[in-house]
Amino acid sequence: MRALRLLEWKSEARLEEVDEPRPGPGQVVVKIGGAGACHSDLHLMDEFEAGVVPWNPPFTLGHENAGWVHALGSGVTGLEVGQPVAVYGPWGCGVCPRCRLGIDPYCENPAAAPVPGGGGGLGLDGGMAEYELVPDARHVVPLPDGLDPVQAAPLTDAGLTPYHAIRRSWSKLPPGSFAVVIGVGGLGHVGVQILKATTAAQVIAVDSRADALRLAEGCGADHTVSAGDGAAEEIRGITGGRGADVVLDFVGVDPTLRLGAAVARTVGDLTIVGIGGGTLPVSYFSVPYEVSIQTTYWGSRPELVEVLDLAARGLVKPKVTTFPLAEANTAYQRLRDGSLEGRAVIVP
Ligand SMILES: [Zn+2]
Ligand SMILES: [Zn+2]
Repeated sequence: MRALRLLEWKSEARLEEVDEPRPGPGQVVVKIGGAGACHSDLHLMDEFEAGVVPWNPPFTLGHENAGWVHALGSGVTGLEVGQPVAVYGPWGCGVCPRCRLGIDPYCENPAAAPVPGGGGGLGLDGGMAEYELVPDARHVVPLPDGLDPVQAAPLTDAGLTPYHAIRRSWSKLPPGSFAVVIGVGGLGHVGVQILKATTAAQVIAVDSRADALRLAEGCGADHTVSAGDGAAEEIRGITGGRGADVVLDFVGVDPTLRLGAAVARTVGDLTIVGIGGGTLPVSYFSVPYEVSIQTTYWGSRPELVEVLDLAARGLVKPKVTTFPLAEANTAYQRLRDGSLEGRAVIVP
């Protein structure tokens, strides 16, 4: 079968012919219907080097995947060949306290996981191929009626990651509250939809690109603000001077972190989702009182079930542009130069 493989750090992925995977006991092979192209794949190709993460190339890219059950290993029950499914992407040890709660990205025994701190497309072969081997059937989540694999694929990361970040702040988003979304890309535009679908907050979307702000409006943002010098003042104005109850930074570079801290309300949340690698000085006087600052990484398996439910009912709908496997590198190039709207999904 064909697979888009990262062969070494700091290189472009290559389309190669590889053997079709076969499931061992407890495993599942999924025929890929869609594999999302994620901004973090650009970090893998462009910036990472040996020692940054506990795994190395070669492996097949693609960590947001959905498709149909193709083959079941011995002992797997509750799934049927041909059934549409999503693949839960972070693969932990399965037995530590975090994994038992279904939050594999925070696995506390990564040495016992299929790959430490990774998953399919992140150290092990992912979904930018005709088939993906899923090492444990618990990572295979049936799709609810009304949701096809192309729509479902980005939900496993571009949907799940903002959903987790928003869900943990639900209690701070009652009627009358404001949420700020910084960066309306693959994750941010779904984040706007999740906020509108699950909270009564008014949503303020921030981006430097006019196209992205239009996309935010289409996703239900109540206000859009162009990133730049006047952004903090404009956001404060929209919130009646109080600031935003929850700020979600999907970029994570110095200027966006600074903006987030400048517009957060006392007792609010400032959540860093983007892996831009910026830093934010935190001191007694640098952020409003009782602002909680946290990073989040991906989300839990139960939360994936909830996101799929939202999407199946039409409450969340990622904007998707499809590319054939042979043009996956074109999709990544458009992601790199910022000309892609929403999410690129590779359809093998
Ligand atoms: Zn990702
Ligand atoms: Zn674990």
